[in-house]
Amino acid sequence: MNDEMRKALTEYLDECWHEFKELNYLPILGANTHDHKCTKCVFIFSYNFVFNKGRGHRTFTTWEDLGALKNKLVEKGDWRDFFGFARNSWDEANVNNWLMVPARFCELCSQFLEERGKNGKA
Ligand SMILES: [Zn+2]
Repeated sequence: MNDEMRKALTEYLDECWHEFKELNYLPILGANTHDHKCTKCVFIFSYNFVFNKGRGHRTFTTWEDLGALKNKLVEKGDWRDFFGFARNSWDEANVNNWLMVPARFCELCSQFLEERGKNGKA
């Protein structure tokens, strides 16, 4: 999954895709003393967090990510359409297995949103 896909999923979750203006490493001050503020929201991240933890972005490979997307699909009334999309993407026997693999589930969500965008229902 690429950044563009992760960004779309993050925004679907109504979460901030954090962006940083300045990412200078200042070793003389010590890596942890230099904080970075997201240019879009109020969050400030430590240097280590920004550089080592994927800039605070979700990886969309974890059970937590799967759960967040599942809850949001339900909350936004998109679950039925999503499940229909998933069933059309795989045969009945495989679809349940794919829905239980976090990375695959998240990728399916990404494909679902992309497909829906093409149909003008983004
Ligand atoms: Zn942010």
